[in-house]
Amino acid sequence: MPELPEVETVCRTLNDLIVGKTIAKVTVKLPRIIQHPDDPDVFSAMLEGRSFRAVERRGKFIRLIMDNLVLVSHLRMEGRYGVYHKDEPTELHTHVIFHFTDDTELRYKDVRQFGTMHLFAPGEEWTSRPLNKLGIEPLDEHFTLDAFKRALGSRSAPIKPVLLNQELVVGLGNIYVDEALHTAGIHPERPTNSLKPKELERLHHAIVGTLTAAVEAGGSSIKSYVNGQGEMGMFQMSLKAYGMTGQPCRTCGSLIEKSVVRGRGTHICPRCQKIK
Ligand SMILES: [Zn+2]
Repeated sequence: MPELPEVETVCRTLNDLIVGKTIAKVTVKLPRIIQHPDDPDVFSAMLEGRSFRAVERRGKFIRLIMDNLVLVSHLRMEGRYGVYHKDEPTELHTHVIFHFTDDTELRYKDVRQFGTMHLFAPGEEWTSRPLNKLGIEPLDEHFTLDAFKRALGSRSAPIKPVLLNQELVVGLGNIYVDEALHTAGIHPERPTNSLKPKELERLHHAIVGTLTAAVEAGGSSIKSYVNGQGEMGMFQMSLKAYGMTGQPCRTCGSLIEKSVVRGRGTHICPRCQKIK
């Protein structure tokens, strides 16, 4: 699933590709992608004649901002956007097509069909599902060490599922949680309220550092992720724990091990990330 760096990269690419373009009409081939409004025909009618003004990210959501409308899109497992000339053949699993007045199209393709789109009047998106319960942005200036500690609270749950909880801190998924915990030298099953001040400081630093580096690299291309122009990210070359099972830890040389924490595949260095 694309996480913060991948979604940020998609937003930046879409900004270059679609801002200024005007929608002539919209084709919805798979109605269940459209979550709001209920009727996909209403969805399409509302979008006709609108122009894209900006594309911004909130957590793992994409906000496509138009004049007097905001489209909130989540890629979930494998959703992806691409811009094509209208004469290019439409690929399988293309579920929503935004036809522009300049004979190009923004196409939404989603093999797994888990992606969602919600359409709102500007501002309404913040008080409605799915954006209304999101936690703090880790690359925002407000994400201080104190704000991080407040978000974690005094939870006794293991730190990994707490970091995955989008109502506390947004944007982290399985890849970047494993990476940040490895960098900070913290075992993913440590109870959150057992982390010492120094460990919380290292973890906060690791989250910001890992996400910043991954955004600069254009995200990680694992499985199907590509940006809006079909380009791969490069951060997978820099991963230190995620997907590195059996490879030597870059810090100490021990072999990275894979286990399951609360149902999620989890990668740790047994020497750098001790449970006690
Ligand atoms: Zn190690």
